[in-house]
Amino acid sequence: MDVSRLLDDLNDNQREAVAAPQSNMLVLAGAGSGKTRVLVHRIAWLMEVENIAPFSILAVTFTNKAAREMRGRVEAVMGRSMNTMWIGTFHGIAHRLLRSHHEEAGLPENFQILDSDDQYRLIRRILKAMNLDEKHWAPRPVQWYINGNKDEGLRPQHIDTHGDATQQKMREIYAAYQDACDRSGLVDFAELLLRAHELWAKNPDLLSHYQRRFRAVLVDEFQDTNNIQYAWLRLLCSGNDNSIMIVGDDDQSIYGWRGANVDNIHHFLKDFNDTTTIRLEQNYRSTSTILNAANAVIDNNQGRLGKDLWTDGSQGEAISVYAGFNELDEARFIVSQIKDWLNQGHALADSAILYRNNAQSRVLEEALLHEGIAYRIYGGLRFFERQEIKDALGYLRMVNHPHDDAAFERVVNTPSRGIGEKTLSQVRITAREHNCSMWQASQLLISEGALKGRALNALRSFSILISELEQHILDQPLEKQADITIKESGLFAMYKAERGEKAQARLENLEELVTACKQFIIPEEAEEMTPMSAFLAHASLEAGETQADTNQDAVQMMTIHSAKGLEFPLVIMAGVEEGMFPNPMTNDEPGRMEEERRLCYVGMTRAMQKLIMTYAESRRVYGQDKYHTVSRFIREIPAEHVQEVRLKSTISRPVHNRFSRAASHESFEDSGFQLGQRVVHRKFGEGIVLNYEGSGDHARVQVNFDEFGSKWLVLAYAKLESA
Ligand code: ATP
Ligand code: MG
Repeated sequence: MDVSRLLDDLNDNQREAVAAPQSNMLVLAGAGSGKTRVLVHRIAWLMEVENIAPFSILAVTFTNKAAREMRGRVEAVMGRSMNTMWIGTFHGIAHRLLRSHHEEAGLPENFQILDSDDQYRLIRRILKAMNLDEKHWAPRPVQWYINGNKDEGLRPQHIDTHGDATQQKMREIYAAYQDACDRSGLVDFAELLLRAHELWAKNPDLLSHYQRRFRAVLVDEFQDTNNIQYAWLRLLCSGNDNSIMIVGDDDQSIYGWRGANVDNIHHFLKDFNDTTTIRLEQNYRSTSTILNAANAVIDNNQGRLGKDLWTDGSQGEAISVYAGFNELDEARFIVSQIKDWLNQGHALADSAILYRNNAQSRVLEEALLHEGIAYRIYGGLRFFERQEIKDALGYLRMVNHPHDDAAFERVVNTPSRGIGEKTLSQVRITAREHNCSMWQASQLLISEGALKGRALNALRSFSILISELEQHILDQPLEKQADITIKESGLFAMYKAERGEKAQARLENLEELVTACKQFIIPEEAEEMTPMSAFLAHASLEAGETQADTNQDAVQMMTIHSAKGLEFPLVIMAGVEEGMFPNPMTNDEPGRMEEERRLCYVGMTRAMQKLIMTYAESRRVYGQDKYHTVSRFIREIPAEHVQEVRLKSTISRPVHNRFSRAASHESFEDSGFQLGQRVVHRKFGEGIVLNYEGSGDHARVQVNFDEFGSKWLVLAYAKLESA
């Protein structure tokens, strides 16, 4: 191969990094400056010029997807397959090592990985076995404690409790948990890393074998490594046999909440021999408008390592900012922008919608479905397929139609009410014998006295719960039905007790389900159904709609966290308002606020040609309207890069960037009404215009009446007058 080809499409600094003699190297550079590209070319260079075999290369990426892409890119550059090269995530690589050396690692050959949910369940069993009340020893904090210590490389015996009784008990639980794992050959995620570290720390021969084998170690997204990962890399590269290249950007460290430590970049310069630092300052991804805007935002953080990022790319379009009247209006605007994008001849797959929280996807999904636009949710499930939503729908289905066996199976013991597998199988058998539903079978078993003691009580309490729920939601509006069911079933309390990011997201989703009910409009073809039946049908249809498959052209939807490292010609960031982003949980804590700002920087710098940022001036959260102002992050963008957009016309606002105005939409379809306007209806009284669709004779408006709640009315018949 002509090796100059490996340097051709690189700038001077990138070339310096790719072609440097073997040494420990830090490539510190901002978003889109070609860090990942440098890593790929460096791997090829090491093989072609330094004659390092693929077998001797270890590359670490942040996600499995990134690992697959990197392997593909190296193979494309080299023109052959690279099976023997190790490319993977820290967890994947640790797993591979432990499999190869399970004996030295003290593990059975067929050890199993415990995922986070399994780990949680095991901790609950341990607490029970230790007779510890979950009220005082909540399993979630115990889980954080165990994983947090493992991330710092600490076993129970290493933990200094300073004589504190609570700390001592926590340490005891950790030890009991670890014993249970060891007895059953179970390894949790944090344990993979810790054990891989111990494997080398305790076996110098093995370590030196790998030091000689992996002559070149390369790490992407280094700013998000945690301490045990760092210690593991340090062991591997402590000899004189190999060298390491790390690439990263302190401004893109977004996993601090999960134990990542951006200071590892500073430590690297101290802890590794003869390090050189190379900075890349030219951005190749984004237009100068997008880049300058992102730079201005991140400039508000303190204590940055500091980078000058420039581009000689075109200026491009201004960043569009749209203030939705509410979240439906925001979603409709986003869909209109995607349609425009399509009409300009672009592919859907070149567009991405990014949001702060998973729960935000629901309104966007519905707007896209409504217009028949294909979408993919990357790194997550579609709204109606999420566990907690299926749990809640399971209860609603039971109440609506108790003979639904799938729903019965789903919720009978969620939250746990002590109905064991044995009782359940009795129910199943009885149902089969009598050719009836599981619900009827339970009634039979209860009334015939076929069950005893705890099993009987547990099944009876479930049966009472469902009957009572049915009573309580009778004659209630749809959203109340959902709200009552979520609460009285114990689902809300169950997820609330879990705490942590994931549980928080589940609560948000449950709240979003209530909102979905409130916004639900019964389609004409289902008018004879009860609102609940119609809603459940709608939910299963949406869930059944298969996710656009990988080769289908589809809009990409994901949280900003999962967009790390990716790029898209069009990026739409949704929900950029105070109260959403920055996440209100940050409580203005300086450290967390800066991490939110870095997240915003990551989001903005995913955009290549066009960036659109939207927010909603009012958003329905758990059936209540919350009023928000534009996010501080948008206000941090210099005015000359921003263009405020309105639905029908585009008005430049060159003078200043102020988004504090009240809702001021164009009147729609010449109807004489505006979103947000107060109107009077002959029968329903006064209300406020929330939404509209269609035009001419088909135009419909949604009005939230003070007394009667929200209703859709055909404009031509409604005879609305302004209040
Ligand atoms: P991030 O911080 O977001 O991970 P990065 O620094 O890893 O970004 P890359 O993804 O490697 O950046 O590169 C960004 C884009 O710029 C890619 O499309 C890449 O192909 C392109 N690029 C990088 N270097 C050059 C170059 N010298 N000439 C032309 N294009 C380049
Ligand atoms: Mg990258």
